[in-house]
Amino acid sequence: MKKYHLFLFFLILVLTCKSVNTEAINNSFYEETTFSEEVEPSKPSEPVEPVLLEFGFPVVSQVVEISSRRKELTREYCIRHYNRNSYLIEVPRMIVIHYTGVSSLGESFAIYRDDIIPAERTDINGFGRVNIGVHFLVDKDGSVYSMLPENMIGRHTVGFNHLSIAIENVGVADYELTSQQVEANARIISYLGGKYPTIRFLFGHHEYLDKEKAHFLYFKAEDPFYKPRPMADPGVLFMKNLRDYLLQEYNLKFID
Ligand SMILES: [Zn+2]
Repeated sequence: MKKYHLFLFFLILVLTCKSVNTEAINNSFYEETTFSEEVEPSKPSEPVEPVLLEFGFPVVSQVVEISSRRKELTREYCIRHYNRNSYLIEVPRMIVIHYTGVSSLGESFAIYRDDIIPAERTDINGFGRVNIGVHFLVDKDGSVYSMLPENMIGRHTVGFNHLSIAIENVGVADYELTSQQVEANARIISYLGGKYPTIRFLFGHHEYLDKEKAHFLYFKAEDPFYKPRPMADPGVLFMKNLRDYLLQEYNLKFID
């Protein structure tokens, strides 16, 4: 009888301890979850999870919805510089490649965040209120970010914004740009070329004022005071690598 009581006592003790332990674990998990949520609240401006859109490769969307203010500022810019009452690209004819001039993804995002051109951009803010805008941004590891809808006009290349799609690369010099960026640019270009048969030209921003090149036939500048400046991005080396890669891997050759 005594032995039986002892056994019951131990059984109750073991069961009680187990139950307390389970509760302790559950509590610690709950607290940990709550704590991490408090420390890192979700930020709407942070990139969302990569999604496979119609691109056929992962693209992270940065833009949920274009503000009506941005559309109107873009329209205002187009009326002034292209004599077109629209914020949309009517016929996409060319792809222009750039680098951002800053070395991190975060700094690059910051350039495009606002709808209005910053006050410190005194070189260009007298010629339109809309901020700089591009369609795709490629990080150094080749990750692709969608910044503007493909059919919306972005302010990135004087004289050609109304008919061009822009790809920006995070970086400050052509020798700093990576092979992953070359490959990602080629993927985007192949996708755009397949989707829009009207795209026949591809050039770097540093080539945009070259009157010897065929794309210059499309140059349009209604405001005679808006003097286009020579640009250095993305550089001869990057464009050579990109054109070679497009030909080799995709059998694609555009006019420049
Ligand atoms: Zn540029």
